[in-house]
Amino acid sequence: MDTTIPLRCRCGTVKGELDARRAYTRATCYCKDCRAYARFLGVPGVLDAAGGTDVVPAAPAAVRLTAGTEHVTCMSLSPKGILRWYAACCRTPLGNTPRDPKLPYVGLVTACFDAPPQTVDAAFGPRDRIVLNTQSATAPVRATPLGFLAGGLRILAGILRAKLRRERATSFFDAAGRPLREPDVISRETRTALERAG
Ligand SMILES: [Zn+2]
Ligand SMILES: [Zn+2]
Repeated sequence: MDTTIPLRCRCGTVKGELDARRAYTRATCYCKDCRAYARFLGVPGVLDAAGGTDVVPAAPAAVRLTAGTEHVTCMSLSPKGILRWYAACCRTPLGNTPRDPKLPYVGLVTACFDAPPQTVDAAFGPRDRIVLNTQSATAPVRATPLGFLAGGLRILAGILRAKLRRERATSFFDAAGRPLREPDVISRETRTALERAG
């Protein structure tokens, strides 16, 4: 099986690839922050019917940007919030990272996966196996406590393994650990408006 999943923004300017073997798990997040971010981007195909975002957490070293890097930018919902990377050309979400590149984690938003759904399912499992923050979903979503536990453990194990390998962070950070772009932190008012929208 081919273990590389191509990444592509909607307009095709930004391209990359993910080594699926280094993915930690797959989860849908229904938190208000992820939804506010999707509304900030304002493009279709990010949120599911209950307002959730399908994410594949992975080791940063598994992600490689191969084209259009100059169009990759990032925002944050708050001064200490996670960095949310996206393709500025067409506002396609790419991945979310901690501010500290020493924490080997990137949550790829599957909206940028350039592969058929069945290929994505085969590589990472079905999208509703693990659901997070269901209490803030916009429609009823059945919680998956066992999946949540298993997924959490897989993320922890993956982070520990990446730590032991002393891997450098992704394409989203430079060799000195500085983010590729300064995050654009939106105002509290904008954030509140995005959380209330829809
Ligand atoms: Zn684009
Ligand atoms: Zn979230």
